[in-house]
Amino acid sequence: MRQIASLIAFLVTLSLLAFQVHSEPGTTSLFPTNITYLKATDSQAPSEALASDDWQMLQEASPNFGYNTVPYWFRMAVSSQPEHQILDISYPLLDRVEFFLLESGNVTEHVVVGDTLPFEHRPLNHPTFLIPFSTQADKQYEILLKVETHGSLQVPIRIWAQNELFDAIAMEDQLHSLYYGVLITVIFFNVFIFLALRELTYLLYVLSTFGYLFLLAALRGVTFQILWPENPQLHNLSILLAIPCAMLLTLLFGRSFLRLKSNAPHIDKVVKLFIALNLAAIAGAFVLDYNLSIRLSVALAIPGCLLLTFTGPLLWLRGVPQAMFYTIAWGLLTIGSAITAANKYGWVPTNFVTTYGMEIGSALEAILLTIALAARLYQEREGKMLAREAELNAMAARRKAELRMMDQALHNPTTGLPNRTSFEMVINDLINRESKKRHAVGIIYLTNLQAITKTLGHRNTDRLLELAARRFNSIISGLPGVYPIEVTDQRSFHLASLEPAALGFIINADEISSTPRSIVLALEQLGEPIDYLGMQLPLDPQTGVAIFPDHAQDTNALIRRAYIAQESDEARDRGLAYYQPARDSYSADRLTLVSELRQALRDNELALHLQPKLCLKTHEVVGAEALIRWPGRKVPIPADQLVSIAEQTGLIKPLTRWVLEQSLSLRNQLIERGYPIGISVNISPNNLREPEFPLYVQRLMAAYPRHRGQIILEVTETSMMLDPANSLRALQSLNATGIPLSIDDFGSGYSSLSYIKQLPAKEIKIDRSLIHDLLNESEDRVIVQTTIDMCHSLGYQVVAEGVEDEATLALLKSMGCDMIQGYLLTPPLPIRELLTWLDNRGSGAARQIG
Ligand code: C2E
Ligand code: CA
Ligand code: CA
Repeated sequence: MRQIASLIAFLVTLSLLAFQVHSEPGTTSLFPTNITYLKATDSQAPSEALASDDWQMLQEASPNFGYNTVPYWFRMAVSSQPEHQILDISYPLLDRVEFFLLESGNVTEHVVVGDTLPFEHRPLNHPTFLIPFSTQADKQYEILLKVETHGSLQVPIRIWAQNELFDAIAMEDQLHSLYYGVLITVIFFNVFIFLALRELTYLLYVLSTFGYLFLLAALRGVTFQILWPENPQLHNLSILLAIPCAMLLTLLFGRSFLRLKSNAPHIDKVVKLFIALNLAAIAGAFVLDYNLSIRLSVALAIPGCLLLTFTGPLLWLRGVPQAMFYTIAWGLLTIGSAITAANKYGWVPTNFVTTYGMEIGSALEAILLTIALAARLYQEREGKMLAREAELNAMAARRKAELRMMDQALHNPTTGLPNRTSFEMVINDLINRESKKRHAVGIIYLTNLQAITKTLGHRNTDRLLELAARRFNSIISGLPGVYPIEVTDQRSFHLASLEPAALGFIINADEISSTPRSIVLALEQLGEPIDYLGMQLPLDPQTGVAIFPDHAQDTNALIRRAYIAQESDEARDRGLAYYQPARDSYSADRLTLVSELRQALRDNELALHLQPKLCLKTHEVVGAEALIRWPGRKVPIPADQLVSIAEQTGLIKPLTRWVLEQSLSLRNQLIERGYPIGISVNISPNNLREPEFPLYVQRLMAAYPRHRGQIILEVTETSMMLDPANSLRALQSLNATGIPLSIDDFGSGYSSLSYIKQLPAKEIKIDRSLIHDLLNESEDRVIVQTTIDMCHSLGYQVVAEGVEDEATLALLKSMGCDMIQGYLLTPPLPIRELLTWLDNRGSGAARQIG
């Protein structure tokens, strides 16, 4: 800011100095004082004009009639000394000037000049009109001028001694060269900046400066002289175009420099309007008549300039940094132009500053704006650097957050150990990098953890796990050939947490076999109970190992097989087991099994067996449970495994539908044989999650009204507990449509009584596990008795499952149980056999039971 202020001071001083120097009287040109004038009529000859009585004295020093299309005569006496003189009309835009030298009233010389004539007509090749004439000492001379123009009729007349004029012209040319030099330098400077930065503002500045340069040169007649001396039409057109073009470019530049669009949207709209008007004026130059066009352009330029004059300070006040430069620069130009204009009208005396005010102003403006643009460049670069710095900081912060998140994503929050993702990455990496070696993936499963959680709660389990993780990590770290899972300056982990009860490690397989001692020792240490809050808590770890590449080639399979090995009896007995493909019940062609099951469902190869349900009061078979079978297989698949596969693969949906529809057809056969008993169908929790399942059942039952209320859906207690709210909703909507519900496997899980109470069931089936040892286990008897009583009080019927002997049956009957199912009656049977079984019962063969 300092530098700028001193620069302005310097520029002002410089111009004042110039003012001082050139206000000294030095040149001896003569301003004729005795000018008279006369409005000319068309084609009036000099003699006719001279004879007129209407000549009037001119008041001001230099005639200025404004925009005027009428020709005027001017007449003035000239001295006869010196011999060679030159008439100088320094307004170069006059259309036509006829010069007559009268010697004692007679025309001795006649010259016609004007900017509507080619340059070659001029007696002297100069932008303004210079007409030399010679006089003789003893004669009387007068000059008569006829001036005609379509523009502003200004006739600044001076008469020079010939040699003095040439000195003055030389001086003036130098000043002009200086001015043009300054502007051209500014233009080139900014052209280069524009080429380097490709920013529109610089281009607009170059263009507007050029527009101004061209306009001034055109007004001074310089362009006419240099560019198209033979072509006055072009010259006049160029003047018409130069004014609105300069204005247009100035407005465009101002708009861009001050960023009006964002800094002052309202002003921007007005500026845009002026831009449009100036464009119209440019178009007008081609079609309108000269006088009208030039008036229009000037009339437009005045408010346009005023607009910019006020915009600068306004934005400066609003704190737009660029506006100060703009205000000062534009102010200098305005003041300069105003001084020149005032001088034209004779309001201020003629001197260097007043004559060249416009040039001085525009040169200062050009320089200042160049500085401003450079300052802007600097500011913007600084701004960009700051922004870049801020961006870098933000990036660093983001990176840090990302790292933290990554850290969290790769670690188990409870134990702090690397998690399964990390573990998998390390294995992946290892088997890719060292695919020739054998690597063992180990899983340590803490089999007692669930029991501990149930005893001590989750919070304590977490703390305990943390302790165990630390200890196990240090034990595993000591094994020869163990690979690190994560080692940094702060931490060293050879163990990963895969799930709360499972930890994983990787070890060089060849080293384990060569150092069996260390393994045995480590297993011993792992098996030691953990001291927690004064208790010795055994975690009972079982370790399973799968080896790359013997047991599996990819990470996923390695981990899975290590898990399977860990589950084996061998692992339970010895603490450690290697994977054995022969014992893997999971992988064994499971995939083919799935596709075969799909095929069997489609081809109707599955079967339903029925197991009767006996009422203990009436000794009648009151129902039968439908159980899925897959006959025709070499290795039979137990129903619960089949169902579990169906659940895992989505096949449960068609399977349950098949079972339901099949049950209806079985029931038709029962009815036909005179046994209109109900059939119970097992429903998977997955079915309860299907939103359209209740609707499907309802439609099915509606289609077969004879079975209405006789198809009972069995849902296991444990399956409902997985998603109690949703199950409850599904059951309620099923029950609402009149489907009876039964709660299966009751007593095998831990469901809350308050939950059971809400279930819209009609029947509860006590799980086989409670019935099995009922005779011997008094505890089970208490549970069963309580269950029966509680269910009765809730209005449920009670069924005991898995009754295999008469004694149990009798006991259950005495306990008040309503119904039984079990091998005692019969295992589940195909329909044909069941019908026979029922018939036999009816004929008395099986009546003894119960
Ligand atoms: P569940 O619903 O508890 O079915 C009773 C199971 O106990 C049947 O096994 C049955 O054969 C067996 N059982 C009956 N009486 C006795 C007995 O006195 N002693 C012993 N030890 N067992 C007896 P199954 O048929 O192998 O079915 C096993 C499980 O598979 C069923 O348990 C049920 O949860 C499921 N399941 C069977 N069929 C279907 C089905 O169509 N859909 C669905 N979702 N699940 C089914
Ligand atoms: Ca069942
Ligand atoms: Ca059951």
